[in-house]
Amino acid sequence: MRAVDIIYKKRDNLTLTEEELDFFIKGYVNGEIPDYQMSSLLMAVFFRGFNPQETVFLTKSMINSGETIDLSSIPKIKVDKHSTGGVGDKTSLLIAPLAASCGVAVPMMCGRGLGQTGGTLDKIEAIITQCGFVICGQTQNIVPADKKMYALRDVTATVESIPLITASILSKKIAEGTDYLVMDIKCGSGAFMKNFTDAKKLAESIVNTGNKLGKKVIALITDMSTPLGFAIGNYLEVKECVNILQYCNLNNDYQIPENFRLSSDLIYLSIEIVANMLIMAKIASNFDEAKKIIANKLNTREAYNLFLKNIELQGGDTNYITNDILKANYIEDIRATEDGYIENIDAYKFGLASMYVGAGRKIITDSIDYSCGIELTKKIGDKIVKDEIVAKIYYNNKENLQNSKNLCYDGIEISNEKIHSKNIVLDMVESC
Ligand code: URA
Repeated sequence: MRAVDIIYKKRDNLTLTEEELDFFIKGYVNGEIPDYQMSSLLMAVFFRGFNPQETVFLTKSMINSGETIDLSSIPKIKVDKHSTGGVGDKTSLLIAPLAASCGVAVPMMCGRGLGQTGGTLDKIEAIITQCGFVICGQTQNIVPADKKMYALRDVTATVESIPLITASILSKKIAEGTDYLVMDIKCGSGAFMKNFTDAKKLAESIVNTGNKLGKKVIALITDMSTPLGFAIGNYLEVKECVNILQYCNLNNDYQIPENFRLSSDLIYLSIEIVANMLIMAKIASNFDEAKKIIANKLNTREAYNLFLKNIELQGGDTNYITNDILKANYIEDIRATEDGYIENIDAYKFGLASMYVGAGRKIITDSIDYSCGIELTKKIGDKIVKDEIVAKIYYNNKENLQNSKNLCYDGIEISNEKIHSKNIVLDMVESC
């Protein structure tokens, strides 16, 4: 078999076999197939696509490129959730402790590799056993094919391909040892998938591929046209979640209290996802029962205590959580330019604005300033008068402040007419 013949086939829109995909992935991981040939194949897949069976074969080959974690010794149902990512998307920090406090084990491996060395798998198992969840970076040995391919996709304009995203996400989630998976497919300006049609296609591809590989997967399609919650930026987002875990009490109708109004979309979505996880794990038989259990674990602070315990087990310092240690030096207010109702706060522009003041990386070698970012003081639908504060930029370095301010002003739309807040969950795909 030759790599070039496989590239020819996909270039000419023919279907690849399991053996061909396996050959390509194995050859790429062990260095026999160079980056330039993988780049060509990725671009051919980007334009020609994969049929559902090819997507399953690619996912399988990627899983088999490295180690898989066996969590069968943990006597609980393992349910993970994964989001395709968005602005202010901090749901994992609420979902993992909430779901764990309700009785499911959550093996949440996320992001790119953090280069953990040997012994990590034992640590993961030990932490899940003691507090029900772990949130960690990927180890070097899990799906090494994805690590190499994702870095290449990033610089060859081949990220936004439904079969490639499907295989990338599912290979990692299946390799980490979860029994079930709830996907949060973001849709809107702040997400990979800008429109509902593409988000739905991705949801169907992930659910279908997961099912064919023997995993039950459900996918929620959720709005990412505006930031989730009020905080954007690392420490600010952690603080928003800790405050919810520490102080938010849901009443009998699971209503979110007025003092958590700015986080209500975040709390609502997190509860929806955890409720789905509990139903999949058969801890609850319906949404009402699931929400009752979740409200109890939030209100009794069980989820918060698990969150603190998890930090200790991972060797972290809970002082950063219980005391407000990180503070940016300066704050710049963003004010309404007219009276009216907030019609939109654009996720993409606010995400970029937050990155400019140091909350994200422009290029891979940039370092992140954890204390910086943006806090919204208004959400869509809020009544506003001219000069009232809509957002606050937290920053340490003035260099890019003006860019950040421009993006914020550009990202706020105000209407004369009353605006209703948007639905956060747009659709759900269970099996295709
Ligand atoms: N997240 C991933 O892990 N992989 C992708 O391809 C896109 C988002």
